[in-house]
Amino acid sequence: MRPELQTLLELQEIDLKILALKKELDKAPLHLNTLKEAQAKKEEELNVLKERLSSLQERKFEVEDELQMETERLKKSQKKLTTIKTEREYHALLKEIDEIKKANKEREDEILEAEEEIEKVTAEIEAKKKELDEINAQVKNEEKVLAEKTKEITTQMDALNEDRAKVEKEVQPSLLSKYMFLRDKRAGFVVVSVVQGVCGGCNMNIPPQLFNELLRDDRIYTCPTCQRFIYAKRPDETG
Ligand SMILES: [Zn+2]
Repeated sequence: MRPELQTLLELQEIDLKILALKKELDKAPLHLNTLKEAQAKKEEELNVLKERLSSLQERKFEVEDELQMETERLKKSQKKLTTIKTEREYHALLKEIDEIKKANKEREDEILEAEEEIEKVTAEIEAKKKELDEINAQVKNEEKVLAEKTKEITTQMDALNEDRAKVEKEVQPSLLSKYMFLRDKRAGFVVVSVVQGVCGGCNMNIPPQLFNELLRDDRIYTCPTCQRFIYAKRPDETG
């Protein structure tokens, strides 16, 4: 293989490693994102429960106030009963007293129901808070893991970029720009071997004439199909 192609192959190996690390870096936060989604969902569920609790408590206070006022009214009406002169007035007041009593009984029932519901929702809130605490701990842990992983990948990439800069200097500028152009178009694989007349990049056959020339190794050849840089490799060679 020609030395300039050998250098390009070296550059390509570094670039492929950098590309793999970039992919790893992109994928790294996926688990954290999933956890954060679950965390947001749990927080929302907790908020819904808290809102439900406060509206239950509000309603309970409202009914308790009503009950208190109506109890006062009931006492007054009962007191007034002793001072009534006519039978008609007496019966009307009795009816009113009955109605207040009936309504107050309903209020007492509603307060009891609200209390039961408040107890239930309070327990649900406690359980939800525990679940949220667990997720919060997981998020915190995953953030630490991600930070470490990111640092590790970045360190590796920095080292590779340093190596890359050295190798890149050895490549002739016009060859380098061709390489860079193809690298971005061909997912990193630019320098490929030809085995038994087949291009390792696109799997197409190289014309026999070109293959014979390629074996001479007198200049850099490119695949007529995919334009990658090619070099001949005997079937018994590895790599
Ligand atoms: Zn090809």
